[in-house]
Amino acid sequence: MAEGLKWMQCPVCKESIYWEIPTEELKQVKRFPAPVVVNHNGHYLICYLDSHYQLADTEIAIANVEGKAKK
Ligand SMILES: [Zn+2]
Repeated sequence: MAEGLKWMQCPVCKESIYWEIPTEELKQVKRFPAPVVVNHNGHYLICYLDSHYQLADTEIAIANVEGKAKK
């Protein structure tokens, strides 16, 4: 497996997913676990990575509703 790629089974559709760890972005992160949103076939998975880029937790977001903050 290539460096920086993570394998997981999609908890929604049970397919295997390979997704790339955004290592450059994660270097900016100060607090872990850091959420990484993975778009898979229209559903969204929120994968929490710890500071060693190991999968700490996964959440399912089937409907992606964007909450808009008011200024
Ligand atoms: Zn899926």
